[in-house]
Amino acid sequence: MSSELIEINKIKEYAKEENIPIMQEEGIEFLTSFIEKKQIKNILEIGTAIGYSAIMMAKVNSDIHITTIERDETRYLEAIKNIKKFNLENRITLIFNDALNVEISDKYDLIFIDAAKGKNIEFFNHFENNLDMDGYIITDNMGFHGYVEMNEDEIPSKNIRGIVRKIKDYIYFLENNMVYKTTIYKIGDGIAVTERR
Ligand code: SAH
Ligand code: MG
Repeated sequence: MSSELIEINKIKEYAKEENIPIMQEEGIEFLTSFIEKKQIKNILEIGTAIGYSAIMMAKVNSDIHITTIERDETRYLEAIKNIKKFNLENRITLIFNDALNVEISDKYDLIFIDAAKGKNIEFFNHFENNLDMDGYIITDNMGFHGYVEMNEDEIPSKNIRGIVRKIKDYIYFLENNMVYKTTIYKIGDGIAVTERR
């Protein structure tokens, strides 16, 4: 096994032990091939966790640059370590803050939203101006572990019901948007791809 693959597996193992919801295998494959196919170069990620998806996206191509935001200090520090292991400090910029407090002026050809699942509309509105004219917004966890498709009374916790309602609001927001069009793929935990009409 290559040393990079060993390091990737260690990150995945750590995420499992610490219950950190990194992207699923299928999802990351979709995301990285999308980046390759569309020749994406500049990416803004909301929700770094420990850097797994940022590292996987950066590895697609050596001229990809990523800015990624995380509000949890322990995860942010772990992400710094992981990104160093892959010598990607020059291509991945980490921001330690709540994304909704971060003001950026740069434009990106991909904005990847993978943070608090109940705040997708807020993230979308907050960073919309950072999207290139022909850029994409990709949102993870549109299915929320299958709960979005369930009847509300089958959902075991009030907390999860609340998040599911917000994901449904986000789906409504995307599907009825005059400026953007969206396709939702049943891949991984559900992935939405949004672009200007
Ligand atoms: N993209 C990562 C997984 C992210 S998990 C991967 O696939 O490897 C979601 C992360 O978003 C969590 O670590 C959580 O702390 C962070 N998060 C949630 N709300 C946030 C916010 N408002 N600002 C910044 N980070 C946030
Ligand atoms: Mg996710």
